[in-house]
Amino acid sequence: MYFRAYYGVPDSIRAPDGTPVNAVRGLLDFIARLVGDYSPGAMCACWDDDWRPQWRVDLIPSYKAHRVVEEVTGAPDREITPDPLEAQVPLIREALALLGIAVVGAEGYEADDVIGTLAARWNGPVDVVTGDRDLFQVIDDDREVRVLYIARGVGRHERLDARAVVSRYRVLPSQYPDFAVMRGDASDGLPGVAGIGEKTAADLLATHGDLDAIIAAAQDPDGPMTGALRSRIRAAADYLAVAPAVVRVATDLDLGTPDLELQPLADQQREAFAAFAEQWGLGGSATRVLAALDALDALDK
Ligand code: MN
Ligand code: MN
Repeated sequence: MYFRAYYGVPDSIRAPDGTPVNAVRGLLDFIARLVGDYSPGAMCACWDDDWRPQWRVDLIPSYKAHRVVEEVTGAPDREITPDPLEAQVPLIREALALLGIAVVGAEGYEADDVIGTLAARWNGPVDVVTGDRDLFQVIDDDREVRVLYIARGVGRHERLDARAVVSRYRVLPSQYPDFAVMRGDASDGLPGVAGIGEKTAADLLATHGDLDAIIAAAQDPDGPMTGALRSRIRAAADYLAVAPAVVRVATDLDLGTPDLELQPLADQQREAFAAFAEQWGLGGSATRVLAALDALDALDK
């Protein structure tokens, strides 16, 4: 979300000392907007403690490889992040802390995995805010887990349920990982199965249900699958053996017991946030996010 804020707000937006604060201000505006629209009782910023876990790279070496900063031997992979954004990340962390918004990450895992785990465990409706299609797999109508998909901007996001995933791709949310595995995903460096695109992947899942059944059908010369398709799937056997583990998000991380409830801000917290906003020139973005959070407290009363 802070990448989107950075690219969505001009970097001429600066603190009095000249530091760009466009990502900070943009993110606070996103939060104000979403809090205003959905009045959450709890909220959490899920963090990429590891944006490209080695265990995923070991399974598929091309995973996110195009997004790695030119390698420094022995150093952990860094994601290509513009310097003016990198400089704002600590400010974003501080703003979230001052506002009492929990930040949750897990060593060796992506934010996707934290989201998957929290969505699986949270007792009550969940709105996952993301511009990452990978998270469509966590949508669960019975448990009221939806995705607020911000691909076209936070102001124009769509709230996706299972029906929306079906009408977009003709697959159920639970089939989305198998679908993404076969189709591939250039933004994550997932090659997919050569010769199988979105339409064929959806057709195969409609006929066979899941990837295991598709792989089994590809072994069966007497089954309904065409010879061309069978050989494409068999040619991708090595990839298909490992890719599902890369694409599926974790649902069972040990995250401790983070407190995600939003509490009214104490005076001291409010003063600290005001001083922070003043120092970094957060202006109307600070006012709006505070007003949105205060309106939640008013709802409670
Ligand atoms: Mn992802
Ligand atoms: Mn992705």
